[in-house]
Amino acid sequence: MDNIKNDFTNAWDLVHSDLKKNLPDHAIHAWFDPIVPLSFHHKVFKLGVPNQFFLEWIQSHYKEEIEQSIKNVFEDSIGYRFSINKIRKENDVELIIDPRTNETKPKNFNNLNSKHTFDNFIVGSNNEFAKTASESVSNNPGDQKFNPLIIYGGVGLGKTHLMHAIGNSALEKNTNLNIVNITSEQFTLDFVNSLRRNKTIEFAQNYRSADLLLIDDIQFFRGKEQTQEQFFHTFNVLHQSGKQIVLTADKYPGEMKGLQSRLLSRFQSGLSVDVQPPNFELRVAILLEKAEQNGLILDYSTIEFIARHIKNNVRDLEGTIIRLLAKSSLLNIEINNDLVTEVVKERVGGQIGNIVSIENIVKKVSEKSQIPEKEIVGKSRKMEIAEARQISMFLCRDIMGTSLNNIGLFFGGRDHTTVMHALKTINSKKSRNDRMNNMINSIRKELGFSFL
Ligand code: ADP
Ligand code: MG
Repeated sequence: MDNIKNDFTNAWDLVHSDLKKNLPDHAIHAWFDPIVPLSFHHKVFKLGVPNQFFLEWIQSHYKEEIEQSIKNVFEDSIGYRFSINKIRKENDVELIIDPRTNETKPKNFNNLNSKHTFDNFIVGSNNEFAKTASESVSNNPGDQKFNPLIIYGGVGLGKTHLMHAIGNSALEKNTNLNIVNITSEQFTLDFVNSLRRNKTIEFAQNYRSADLLLIDDIQFFRGKEQTQEQFFHTFNVLHQSGKQIVLTADKYPGEMKGLQSRLLSRFQSGLSVDVQPPNFELRVAILLEKAEQNGLILDYSTIEFIARHIKNNVRDLEGTIIRLLAKSSLLNIEINNDLVTEVVKERVGGQIGNIVSIENIVKKVSEKSQIPEKEIVGKSRKMEIAEARQISMFLCRDIMGTSLNNIGLFFGGRDHTTVMHALKTINSKKSRNDRMNNMINSIRKELGFSFL
């Protein structure tokens, strides 16, 4: 085994070759060639994979094959674990496969999702206050002004993410902190079980020993009187001893039905912050970030297209990126407009506009100006044709940020200075002339770009 430790790349090559004997070429090509062996310590291979999707896929489809090949090659109990190459913090999404128990476990045992940090929480006006308050709580747990902190808002808007970020960050500052992190359903279940087994005292002690109590989705306490009673006492004990409580809910606590009023009035003593759906700019920022995290390269017009159609929540934005990755790697196809349109369509139930392209812009301008598309991209210098061409050029730049050279090329192989001149002309006509202004705005709107 000694030489293996010194030469883990060769060692992994042996496993790779063994896998080749048992798996079809396309599987090897798609899933095993991209793996980069990173190290071999304590009888565990550390293997770099390009993204989260890849990791999950390989775990769910090839676990047995990998284990078998390792056994074939080494006849020893060798483990392996994956690590995502491109992610900032390497252990963000690490899974460890313990060679002894052969089980996959999250690295984190307190149940906090280490992927949910403040660092990778993208801020916009819709969630800025919630993030600031959360950071403040993680810096100073137990501060009476923010106790409890209640993060509320619709589905998929980052409440759980923020709550875990509080836990992760507080733990980084103080590793001795006793964090109890649970959903309201788990709390209920735990309580019911403790009743059944006559262990309510242990149950209470367990929760009341927390320095930081995180309970997700307290709306599920609705109508569960006895659980609420327990929670009320736990809450009081912790609150009185200056321990921090963080809760998430789907609504402003004042508007929650089915929760005892004494609980609701306790909530008033702290701070409630909301998360709202992301606006367009934030959606773009989130998509860029999630694409990068997953090692996916998308051009800007694709990102914008997704952001224009998937509006309500961050989870769906993330899901779209994962779906694109999945489809392109499973079907082994490039991510092109058709694929993007298909994936977005699945998500929004078919209601979708076209992806904006130069052709679309020319088509729209042609409709409005009654000048045939052929003329717009042609050579004619007739005044109304030249104007339609200039408007098209302007919109290409304005909506898609197309480079001057490319615009020039598309519109009859013109020089970039001609394009620059066109942009200037339209800009100045726009500021002087309502007709031009209205025309540009209505085309933008029809192409779905009224937000610009
Ligand atoms: P909620 O608890 O509000 O239903 P989550 O916290 O589970 O929503 O968020 C859904 C997904 O979207 C998670 O993967 C989360 O990491 C991601 N997410 C939500 N908001 C943001 C944000 N502002 N920046 C980055 N990721 C986000
Ligand atoms: Mg949640």
